[in-house]
Amino acid sequence: MRFSCTNIWHRLLRTTQQLLLLLFLFLGSAAAAPCFAEPLPSFGLLPDIQLHAPDSISQGSPLFVLAESQSYLSGTKLRLYYSDGSLSQVFPAFKPVPVAWHGSDLRSASQSRSRQTTGYLSAFSLLRPSNTAWMAAIHADAALGPASLRISNGFGVVLAEQTVHIQPREYKAEILRLNSVLTSIRADPDPIKDEQARRYQALLSTVDPAAIYLDAPFIMPLESRRRTSFFGDRRTYQYSDGSKAFSMHAGIDYGVARGTPLYAAGRGKVVLAESRIVTGNTIILEHLPGMYSIYMHLDTIAAAVSPGQIIPRGSRIGTVGSTGLSTGPHLHWEVRIMQVAVDPESLLRIDNFPKISTILGTIEGR
Ligand SMILES: [Zn+2]
Repeated sequence: MRFSCTNIWHRLLRTTQQLLLLLFLFLGSAAAAPCFAEPLPSFGLLPDIQLHAPDSISQGSPLFVLAESQSYLSGTKLRLYYSDGSLSQVFPAFKPVPVAWHGSDLRSASQSRSRQTTGYLSAFSLLRPSNTAWMAAIHADAALGPASLRISNGFGVVLAEQTVHIQPREYKAEILRLNSVLTSIRADPDPIKDEQARRYQALLSTVDPAAIYLDAPFIMPLESRRRTSFFGDRRTYQYSDGSKAFSMHAGIDYGVARGTPLYAAGRGKVVLAESRIVTGNTIILEHLPGMYSIYMHLDTIAAAVSPGQIIPRGSRIGTVGSTGLSTGPHLHWEVRIMQVAVDPESLLRIDNFPKISTILGTIEGR
């Protein structure tokens, strides 16, 4: 076995974490049960967290969770434990927002924001009650039935838990026959395509806890709901040489005329606006930590849409086209949360966003 400074340091760190965890468990939980069916009593050591999350949600949906706490929440993570024993990815918390000394109501926190002069870096803020939020994603194939939503701290101690029932979503099967040109775009090796794919994945896996741009639920990015492919379609690609490939359609396709105007579905920061081999003219907007909306196959990208710009919901971002791997003019609209694809239209509804304007108003000071 090899030893290095890094190994020893990691071992020390892990042992310290385990000792602290044991201490927390001993002091924090009267029952000391190995599985935490209920949130642990705090006894002043573990934060008392009140979660706001839906009781049930469909496969392939975003899951917006808010927390109010009498303690400062930092470094917390959300994870789902599904009925078949599988686990979701880890969803990091948004940057916590210190709230007023008196009362934990989100609305009073929002109103008192203007009276706060110390900001996040004040030593006092670490002692303040805080609100935070997580945007999680239920995978299109997540196991059905009751799932356990758990909030844990940096030591892996579960601070809060709630049951969320995962409901089924129906998916269609679809066969796409590609001519030799489209077959080549999708299947041929190409170093430029590889570089574009790596950069694309790196962007979508970037998580900035302070990236809170979304201020309301989404609106439709175009004035048509003529869908030609649906979220979660099980696709079979038939290549021109007779071979096949299978994939899930990660977004929704709207078949509309070339030149149809496109709008930003929500307030966000432009992180990509360029021509790509497979997806054609493409725009990616960052809305929340780890959450992105993607617009593909555009004919044109509006001049004002360039990386680094923060653009409001409903601003014109380009026009529908048929660039890249496309068989006709259409918008491919996609949403990724921690790289998991969810149904973009489910972000149009308010029920997944309890109190969104209140908490986000608190965060952004709006
Ligand atoms: Zn598509």
